[in-house]
Amino acid sequence: MSDHYILSNAVLSDGVSFVLHDAAIEIKNGSILKIGKNADMQKTGIKSIDLGGRLVLPGLLNAHHHLYSALATGLAPAGPTDTFGRILENLWWRLDRSLDEESIYYSAVSGLMQCIRYGVTTVIDHHASMHSVKGSLDIIESAFRETGLKGLLCYEVSDREGEKALDAQIDENVNFWNKHREDPKIRGLFGLHANFTLSEKSMRRIAEVRPREMPVHIHCGESAGDLAFCRGQGYAGPVDRLHAFGLLSRSSLLAHCIHLSDRDYDILYELQPVVVSNPESNANNNAGMMDLTKIRRYVLGTDGMTGNMLGTFRSHFLLRNGDLQNPSGMLFAYPAEIMGSYFPGWGKLEAGAAADIAVTNYRPLTPLNMDNLFFHLIFGVQGKEMFMTIADGKILFSNNKLHSPDEEAMNAAIKETVMKLHERFKQ
Ligand SMILES: [Zn+2]
Repeated sequence: MSDHYILSNAVLSDGVSFVLHDAAIEIKNGSILKIGKNADMQKTGIKSIDLGGRLVLPGLLNAHHHLYSALATGLAPAGPTDTFGRILENLWWRLDRSLDEESIYYSAVSGLMQCIRYGVTTVIDHHASMHSVKGSLDIIESAFRETGLKGLLCYEVSDREGEKALDAQIDENVNFWNKHREDPKIRGLFGLHANFTLSEKSMRRIAEVRPREMPVHIHCGESAGDLAFCRGQGYAGPVDRLHAFGLLSRSSLLAHCIHLSDRDYDILYELQPVVVSNPESNANNNAGMMDLTKIRRYVLGTDGMTGNMLGTFRSHFLLRNGDLQNPSGMLFAYPAEIMGSYFPGWGKLEAGAAADIAVTNYRPLTPLNMDNLFFHLIFGVQGKEMFMTIADGKILFSNNKLHSPDEEAMNAAIKETVMKLHERFKQ
């Protein structure tokens, strides 16, 4: 594929400010060169791909993923999963203890390949592999490089494996963040598992060693137990505890935010950190739902459930009985604001921006404009696989085929890894 081509005959929207019918996009050297009407964009000598009137969006963001869980599909838990604690003990914590370097890599590749099929070009990952900590983020980074996606990576620090392990987990975060401070595609965050797996002593240690400008990414108020734990330590709730240790800023990522106190909501209102709602995971874990009357600025994640962001958006709509509030904000505007601080121009469909593009399989027959775009996404696109996914100008997926990486070869290696990983899980 040439690095200079035109996508023509599209219905184009950035999800924030415009819908352009009969549109075309010219892409060159990984960036958008020009956007305009088909009629004005005809050029001889440049390859043109006719999109047949399909709806085209910016590449999507998954703001909270666990790529390490990608190979767990169909894996039977080792015990009961009737409480949140038992779901962690008998499935996820047991799985992350079973991961080695090989399975970290292939889990990440597999998870990212699924993201590509659904038009996701940027993933914020939250990683754990308790018996393989050092260098684990480098391994995940290599999976991102292999697939061509952008990402923010972190390791989830917790007390689960004791004090010495805690320091190794902290080091993994800080070293990775330091190494990638100027990277155009991959950056680091300070990952924390959750308040209830971090003692006061551990929180003091984290507050002491965390570089001030390094944002945290944590599960916050996912369970009633997290709120109760924080209250037991003398705080009003999980957000209050993070704030007391100086860990919150507008760049912090707080996943879930379901079980919070009034004081927690006040702090969220004041500091406006990034809240990530994970509707399908919350339904699956019976975790409850975020209070949309108290939290306005939030984005969506899958929490390791899938790589399908428009499917997640559809679930959000259905689980909320149609209460959408600010769909443009959660899917496009806030992601562009958040990711734009790492990768300038992220999420923009304009000349000069990186060509990260999701071409849906949906060809609208009814009028489509900014007022009804989100209903077209829910009832038209329906969370199905894309027609084409492009990252930095490279066509990664089209016509139901993943071009990069070679999916067949990768799947053969993944299948071998799965057998070994599942065996270790059962032991
Ligand atoms: Zn999570």
